[in-house]
Amino acid sequence: MKTDARRRLPSVDAVVRAAGETGLPRARFVAAVREVLADARKEGRLASDADQIARAAHDRVAARDERTLRRVLNATGVVLQTNLGRAPLAPSALSAISEAAGAVSVEYDLAAGKRGERHGHAGALLRELAGAEDGVVVNNNAAAVLLALTALAARREVIVARGELVEIGGGFRIPDVLRRSGAKLIEVGTTNRTYVKDFAAAIGRSTGAIHDLGSGTFADTARHGLPHEETVAEAVAAGADVVTFSGDKLLGGPQAGLAVGRAAAIATLRAHPLMRALRPDKLTLAALIATLELYRDGRAETELPVWRMIAARPTDLARRARAVALRLSASGVPAEVVETRSTIGGGSLPEETQPSHAVALGATAGSAALSAAARLRRARPAIVARIVDDHVALDLRAILPEDDELLAATTIAAMNEKG
Ligand SMILES: *Cc1c(COP(=O)(O)O)cnc(C)c1O
Repeated sequence: MKTDARRRLPSVDAVVRAAGETGLPRARFVAAVREVLADARKEGRLASDADQIARAAHDRVAARDERTLRRVLNATGVVLQTNLGRAPLAPSALSAISEAAGAVSVEYDLAAGKRGERHGHAGALLRELAGAEDGVVVNNNAAAVLLALTALAARREVIVARGELVEIGGGFRIPDVLRRSGAKLIEVGTTNRTYVKDFAAAIGRSTGAIHDLGSGTFADTARHGLPHEETVAEAVAAGADVVTFSGDKLLGGPQAGLAVGRAAAIATLRAHPLMRALRPDKLTLAALIATLELYRDGRAETELPVWRMIAARPTDLARRARAVALRLSASGVPAEVVETRSTIGGGSLPEETQPSHAVALGATAGSAALSAAARLRRARPAIVARIVDDHVALDLRAILPEDDELLAATTIAAMNEKG
């Protein structure tokens, strides 16, 4: 009986013949057909015909080949969403990346016609913007902190405010990174308040402290109705020997870590063996330099996506939300505008929110909201939404106006899709 049933499944050859031209390399398709046949046999689904098996094999390969690293429309209302890649880059940074993708003078001095310095390219910009004697770029701020402490403060004491001993995501904790350097951590202050006098009381002969700004920036958050976040130049002017900060937080550039400060200290970082392991790649350098140029040229707040998002006025967000909601409703996706509070994210001004507006999808309350959110995540580009009052809502704070139409069209297609 069982053997009879088994015989009813088509052979691999029969499936391959039935499939015809699949567009896949033959060996990959054949392997998938074997898997599907084995599964069908195991699960007792013995009535499938050759066409069905071929389709299932094709779907299996397609699902396996799908990229998991995909474009996302960030409708979460969090401008610097670490899980969504933090700062989106400016157009000039994007073209700098594609230019640098080929042969590029990353370690070549074109004027002299000989080997050059990778670390020289961003130096002049960093000196000018930070008012520092010198600066150096590494892979991310955690790397900058590790390098600075290892090179300058190993076996010495590092004074850190308790409020800065945070987990930065993925289970990685700043205190663990600090300890890796061999420096001894001296915690001062409390988790929500640390004063200059706390630092003053802790400073002694074995102090080798540095200043970790985290979300360093060259622009003033106070211009956008937010509290003032200390700028890099202010930290340098206050007398810090080395200031470290991220490239992809409020700076609005690529993932990078920057260290600026006294020439001798930066020279020590540059010469440290760890530098070779932490150095930035040419694409990062190109994007970072293009981003720094926008600050130099006074164009950062109009051209950097992060600042455009932070500067978006609630009345403009409301008007855009109404337009998107109308477009959705007219296409059979009931939607209405709701007021929300958005955040900067990325550990920047963590207590602060800004007024924002979102498009709430009307028919998606409760468990329907979860399946609607899942539908949106499967869309191309994927849409990551937020849940507001039990409804799926598309917050416009972290969406650029030029993407509103794409957001609306993608939402309509995802919500109207069968299945
Ligand atoms: C975000 C942050 C870091 C880590 O920066 P990365 O660029 O993500 O490595 C370190 N210190 C502080 C205070 C931060 O906010």
